[in-house]
Amino acid sequence: MNGKHPRVDPGSESTVQSSSMDIRVCVVGAGVVGLSTATLLQANLSPDVSVTLVADKFLSDTTSIGAAGIFWPGLHFQGPTPEITSRWLKDSYDHYKSILNSPEASIAGVKELSGYHVSNNYPKVVLDEMFKRILEEYRNCTPEELSTLGFKYGTFITTLVTDCTYYLPYLTRKFTSHGGVIEDRHLNSLEELSGKYEVVCNCSGFGAKDLVGDSIMTPIRGQVYKVRAPGVRNFYFNDNDTFIIPGMELVTLGGTKQFDSYNAEVDKYDSLSIWKRVTELLPSLKDAQIVREWVGWRPYRPVVRVEKERMTFDGGRTLKVVHNYGHGAYGVTSAPGTSMHAVRLVKEFLDEPKAKL
Ligand SMILES: Cc1cc2nc3c(=O)[nH]c(=O)nc-3n(C[C@H](O)[C@H](O)[C@H](O)COP(=O)(O)OP(=O)(O)OC[C@H]3O[C@@H](n4cnc5c(N)ncnc54)[C@H](O)[C@@H]3O)c2cc1C
Repeated sequence: MNGKHPRVDPGSESTVQSSSMDIRVCVVGAGVVGLSTATLLQANLSPDVSVTLVADKFLSDTTSIGAAGIFWPGLHFQGPTPEITSRWLKDSYDHYKSILNSPEASIAGVKELSGYHVSNNYPKVVLDEMFKRILEEYRNCTPEELSTLGFKYGTFITTLVTDCTYYLPYLTRKFTSHGGVIEDRHLNSLEELSGKYEVVCNCSGFGAKDLVGDSIMTPIRGQVYKVRAPGVRNFYFNDNDTFIIPGMELVTLGGTKQFDSYNAEVDKYDSLSIWKRVTELLPSLKDAQIVREWVGWRPYRPVVRVEKERMTFDGGRTLKVVHNYGHGAYGVTSAPGTSMHAVRLVKEFLDEPKAKL
């Protein structure tokens, strides 16, 4: 991990930042959701609010780092209502698009990418009306394209990719350069933050299962190859969990979507299956240089949790918490939108009149 950010010794009393700023907000989690929330808090709260980020995994140790990073909301990406889900996705797309159109696009790892979603099995799998409404280019494949690709059904789509091997360091630099403080520390309970912060944003991803006892959190195990294949210019999705997604330097080849699997190791049978499927889809990949294989747990929750909670612990200590976790297979896609929502909820907490002592 990058050791350059201002950090404080885990567990020491100095973890409470003495600062001229009098309002303290904490974000738990340094994945794409935590870093998005932390930087958006800095951008949207008044300058007298200090933001600290606490996490026990950073950069290459997070789940976010292995994501292919394509803006691709699946049909089972759910917020509490269809309107809120649409807003999260639209806000996210606009956020990434504004980075794309800025001079920071290449250092942030955001690029435009076109490609094909194909199937031989089920025509509707290649059509997503909500996704179509957000994107500028989303059309049926022509008969010529289908014949070249060897599929019955298909759509041609132009979307965005956010490569987290660039994006997480970019957000980390942004956060620390605006005065954000990072603590490398494992939390057994959010109670450890009570009395130290006005509001805590819980962006702990799969960690929420233990941290706040959310038993419904379920891993969806994903195994992928990261390869060097500079000739691959488009993305490809097939309906059998197969995808080919070029990032900034490496192409992600996948994959698996194994519900409730806690295997964190590369499985040799999955490796064989993935390689067979991707090379059948795009035979030129046989010449790709394999850089590594990787496994991650998509932090799945049936409804992504973005909501306020007033936690009360044994002994009467209390804490105002805004949850922002459970993004499953769509954390990169949706992090800016759910984080903007979380920022609005933090503001609601901060705007409450202070209780009289
Ligand atoms: C193979 C694969 C491919 C993917 N491809 C895509 C894609 O193309 N597009 C897309 O949108 N999504 C994709 N995803 C999904 C995406 O990776 C996740 O949704 C996203 O990374 C979740 O981000 P997060 O910040 O919630 O979690 P994480 O990245 O896991 O971060 C969680 C953070 O919380 C901290 N934390 C947790 N518990 C504690 C604790 N007790 N104390 C202190 N810190 C704690 C951790 O240290 C960490 O910093 C993919 C996932 C996989 C596995």
